[in-house]
Amino acid sequence: MRKKIDVLIIGTGIAGLTAAIYLKEAGLDVVVTTKESSIEETNTNYAQGGIIAWKEGDKRDNLEQDILKAGCNYNNLEAVKLFAMEGPQLVLDFFIDKLKTQFTQTSEGKLDYTEEAAHSDRRVLHFADHTGDVLQKSLQDYAAGLQIPILTNHTAIDLITNNHHSDDCQEFYKQREVMGCYVLDNLTGDVITFFADKVILATGGLGNLYQHTTNPASATGDGMSMAYRAGADIINAEFIQFHPTALYHREIKRFLISESLRGEGAKLRDSTGRYFMEDYSPMKDLAPRDVVARAIYNQMGKTGSEYVLLDIASFYKGEIPLKKRFSKIYQTCLEGGLDITKKPIPIVPAAHYFCGGIKVDLAGRSSLKNLYAIGEVSCTGLHGANRLASSSLLEGLLWAKLAAEDISQNFEKIEQQRNKFIPDWKRPNEVEEFDPLLLSQDWKAIQLTMWNYAGIIRTNKGLERARADLNYYSHRIFSFYKTARLNKDIIELRNAIVNATIIVNAATHNSQSIGCHFVK
Ligand SMILES: Cc1cc2nc3c(=O)[nH]c(=O)nc-3n(C[C@H](O)[C@H](O)[C@H](O)COP(=O)(O)OP(=O)(O)OC[C@H]3O[C@@H](n4cnc5c(N)ncnc54)[C@H](O)[C@@H]3O)c2cc1C
Repeated sequence: MRKKIDVLIIGTGIAGLTAAIYLKEAGLDVVVTTKESSIEETNTNYAQGGIIAWKEGDKRDNLEQDILKAGCNYNNLEAVKLFAMEGPQLVLDFFIDKLKTQFTQTSEGKLDYTEEAAHSDRRVLHFADHTGDVLQKSLQDYAAGLQIPILTNHTAIDLITNNHHSDDCQEFYKQREVMGCYVLDNLTGDVITFFADKVILATGGLGNLYQHTTNPASATGDGMSMAYRAGADIINAEFIQFHPTALYHREIKRFLISESLRGEGAKLRDSTGRYFMEDYSPMKDLAPRDVVARAIYNQMGKTGSEYVLLDIASFYKGEIPLKKRFSKIYQTCLEGGLDITKKPIPIVPAAHYFCGGIKVDLAGRSSLKNLYAIGEVSCTGLHGANRLASSSLLEGLLWAKLAAEDISQNFEKIEQQRNKFIPDWKRPNEVEEFDPLLLSQDWKAIQLTMWNYAGIIRTNKGLERARADLNYYSHRIFSFYKTARLNKDIIELRNAIVNATIIVNAATHNSQSIGCHFVK
């Protein structure tokens, strides 16, 4: 099947849906796809802490300084300035005024700004401790009102470029440009040849490459791998942010214990009961994420324990009762048999956020013509070597708007004639059925390799070992991919091995410990 639209947006999180809203309102014909069966299965939906927003009296300079400090001055200064100048006000204009999103209010009916680690002011808007699902729902409702077509169960496989795919040999000699994307319909197995004048990758992060992660299983970094194969520049891939506090529980996986708990007074103790953060930083429990994650990792090693404890019960002094302020965390822990108002929470660090990605400029343009990347899959350079808490939702929002403006103001169509030379997806002559057990074994191997050798603390020897192991898995996975009946799982596995290799190569080439890339 062949389809043609103005703009194809891949991803239904904050970045993808915001871009769709702006583009649709600008009169362009957009289609949004997600590989999941539900629109809301995104990292956005799981965000807890909140989103940086404009607050009376907060100074732009202070926000810039906080971002630069967290990012170890490795940040793109232009991106930081733009973010601090335009971002916080956009939350009020877009979410509060336009989408009518409800955020938590104080008892006086004012917006309740909370504090997060490494912020010099309380400038984070939230909805209790489940901000993400409230933002996701607002975006979905607004997009539905605009009748934006959203295709669920549609997995993007590969970008179509003139150089790679055209049967017209003259295209090989032209500048490389993206002309669309091959997209699998997960339910029918058909591959759609989707032509689009512009493609926006808004495919989110890749936490699932690691054994412990706060990300949903869908976070496999597909967009980065697709862009890499198409020849786009990728940068800062060594910078994986590990969240210090994910719940350590036999049954409840991937559950984040928000940093706001430490913002509201919670303190870390090791398995002997000792409060240990003063051994690692003068900022103690409010030190930046990488410092806290490494401290926990070290302390676990010292005490031989698989977790440490986060104590909010003894310290919470907020206006709103603990059960209400952290309702989701309270409820989830209670379901796992733990009352956080009475007992400390067992936690481990976990892969949380990807600071690197597809290199883009201040309008979300990648190094390839017609290809934009926004949100977590992109690297604007805003976060530098480490991300300031609660800045990524806003980065996704702002760059979605900037990309949409750039597209609508400079919109140019690709000459229709050229699409005729793009063939449909080629299937293997003989299809091999796959064994789910082998697939899950390959996943585990990648996740363990990344956790042990390219995780919180890296060594040259470990990275060398990771390269060798990934190389071995790559051969097997690529040859299997060529003959297997295509489905979402196989597409994700192939992307995962590509991304793992990109990360390990980047880490190997940066011998300097900085931010969330720590080499011993
Ligand atoms: C537990 C948790 C808590 C967080 N808390 C905060 C917070 O408090 N504040 C903050 O600022 N940030 C927070 N973050 C980070 C933030 O949520 C993410 O960085 C942000 O939501 C990413 O948005 P996105 O639009 O780029 O991607 P996502 O929201 O992840 O959306 C990605 C979309 O792409 C789709 N997709 C991926 N690959 C394909 C493919 N091949 N084909 C089709 N579709 C595809 C997915 O299905 C999904 O729809 C948190 C993250 C997690 C996991």
